[in-house]
Amino acid sequence: MTRILIISDIHANFTALQAVLEAAGNVDATWCLGDLVGYGPDPNECIDLIRSTPRLTCLMGNHDAAAIGWIDTLFFNREARLSSQWVQSRISEDNILFLKSLPERVIAENVTLVHGSPRNPVWEYLLDIQTAAINFPYFQTPLCFVGHTHVPILYMAEEKQKETMRKIKSEEVISLTTKMIINPGSVGQPRDRDKRAAYAIYNPEHKTWKSYRIEYDIGSVQARILSENLPLRQAHRLAEGW
Ligand code: ZN
Repeated sequence: MTRILIISDIHANFTALQAVLEAAGNVDATWCLGDLVGYGPDPNECIDLIRSTPRLTCLMGNHDAAAIGWIDTLFFNREARLSSQWVQSRISEDNILFLKSLPERVIAENVTLVHGSPRNPVWEYLLDIQTAAINFPYFQTPLCFVGHTHVPILYMAEEKQKETMRKIKSEEVISLTTKMIINPGSVGQPRDRDKRAAYAIYNPEHKTWKSYRIEYDIGSVQARILSENLPLRQAHRLAEGW
């Protein structure tokens, strides 16, 4: 295998998901790190498309768990809670079963896959080097791929227990040489002030990771958010990437 598509945090944004799958082209497998639903207007369309993806490995995110009633949305902010209630009322029986089948942690091709963090797979945010450093002992594979923060970022554990972090730029190629935690960013709701959809291609043979950002038709997603009476803020933030 030389081309594995890494995606995360689709958040019911069908237009962005379609654009990413099209831009990625032929891949040997697709690894999706969770949060298929929540915030966006197209939960069933996104799950249907993901389910039809060949050689798929898909993890459970916190919004997926909320959509099937497995976690209390009192822990969510108001808008996440409203959109979660909306998803629960819309999602098909079949797609509920699919979300219920999602694992919290998978090891694939010697890579640990989780939504949030290796220590707390569904919930913990890896936003800073301190939290990342605490998490390195919680996975035994050389690499761990995470989503959840919606920001493409790389945490490295160099020798002598020294950890470093940095944001990943579009088109940047990373050599996977030391123990690393990597985040591809978000397909459907980027939060690094870059509104373009994010994804990555992992090459296990050459041990490389390449991040990508691509434009998609944000206006059409905003129009569907408004017509579904979802919170206005969800439409605004897509155009600004937060
Ligand atoms: Zn998310």
